[in-house]
Amino acid sequence: MKAVYREIKTGNKKTGFIPTMGALHQGHLSLVTNCKSDNNISIASIFINPLQFNESDDFQKYPRTIEEDIEKLRNITCDYLFLPSEKDVYPDEKSRILDFNIGYLENVYEGQVRPGHFKGVALVVKRLFELIQPDFAYFGQKDYQQFLVLQKMVQENDLKIKIKMCPVIREDDGLAMSSRNRFLTDDQRKDAASIYQALNLLKVNYQKKPIDLIKKEAVKKIELNKDFKVEYLDVCDSTTLKPVDEWNDAEALVAIVAVRLPGLRLIDNILIN
Ligand code: AMP
Repeated sequence: MKAVYREIKTGNKKTGFIPTMGALHQGHLSLVTNCKSDNNISIASIFINPLQFNESDDFQKYPRTIEEDIEKLRNITCDYLFLPSEKDVYPDEKSRILDFNIGYLENVYEGQVRPGHFKGVALVVKRLFELIQPDFAYFGQKDYQQFLVLQKMVQENDLKIKIKMCPVIREDDGLAMSSRNRFLTDDQRKDAASIYQALNLLKVNYQKKPIDLIKKEAVKKIELNKDFKVEYLDVCDSTTLKPVDEWNDAEALVAIVAVRLPGLRLIDNILIN
């Protein structure tokens, strides 16, 4: 890290940062590509943050593929990889306490299903920002609510770091890439394409059919596979994540979905207009 700081401080170079939890796929690598095109120095991190897991089983089970990850980052010439220990990120009790209020976003949708999750996310990103001090940081639209929480974290702490949202990278059949997709059985993997199809159904029916009706059709499409249970599926104001009943209730809309399968959850979203 000392070498990184020297290079940043002496060179007046733009530094971009890509925080991840590893098990890297093309979605993560697209963030690195975006980062590289905007900055002189790109720094990725891999840290599986225990504070953002509300189920310890999920934390234990989270895929760890560090050798492959290093190889992938090397292949796309990411300049640095930061691999902190838990002690580096959380050196004392104080560093584990979030000093601002996330507000509405904390306990809805992902926050409701995963209590404490967004506090953990906001804390780890804030700490990583302190350690790396980048000019820009890159996040995926895949975790849409997370991005809104991090925007709030940046505002509340008056940070000078600019955060950028990069598009969802998908498999050929539309399934959003995720480190957790490897846990799908062959049948589940095939049927998981229905999640993106359901989101598209909402998008193509923008201003055509009532939101309520099209939401029901979308849920039905996903739940055709009886392993799949929709936890939430909503059309929301894309800046506040407040749900809307009518297409004209907000200027810009996002449809968000979470699906529970045995031992696994998948989330996705699509910008509607
Ligand atoms: P994670 O390792 O799951 O914490 O993700 C690290 C970053 O990669 C987050 O900003 C995610 O939103 C982003 N990401 C994960 N999956 C995708 C994807 N399919 N497309 C684009 N970005 C993604």
